[in-house]
Amino acid sequence: MNPLSSVRRVLSGSRSGTGPGASAVESPASLVGPAASPPNPPDRDELQSRLTPLQYVVTQEAGTERPFTGEYWNNHADGVYRCVVCHEPLFDAATKFYSGTGWPSFSDVAQGGTVDTRTDRSHFMTRTEVRCRNCGAHLGHLFPDGPRPTGMRYCINSAALDFERRAAE
Ligand SMILES: [Zn+2]
Repeated sequence: MNPLSSVRRVLSGSRSGTGPGASAVESPASLVGPAASPPNPPDRDELQSRLTPLQYVVTQEAGTERPFTGEYWNNHADGVYRCVVCHEPLFDAATKFYSGTGWPSFSDVAQGGTVDTRTDRSHFMTRTEVRCRNCGAHLGHLFPDGPRPTGMRYCINSAALDFERRAAE
């Protein structure tokens, strides 16, 4: 079985999408040549080979890992959490707190963190989605019920993160 589709099945609990060929791209006549443009951009292919199926579905298809299953929800080490796709710094262990949700939770973005938020109306809910500003990877959601001083809770998938332990100086 295709590992990507099995992850999608587990995450969504439903059969996936539109099937092959739904997004056929018409290329301009001027570009017709021996090398047809691939159905997926090359960076997606690179990502599929580099990321785990779960990392791919979470970051590229806005999936959500199951709570208490990720690598970092219970990680207490000091360091920086980077985007698993583009390696930009996103969150710092200094703002990580125990939320009880089973996902890594942060009260703020890291200094210089490349994080964007936007309104997400999928799944019949209105939520604030958190994405990597640099590469657009889906990271998780933002809720206004975090600890002081920010009052914010960035609820982030472990699968979207790459933890880099801070070196002792
Ligand atoms: Zn990124």
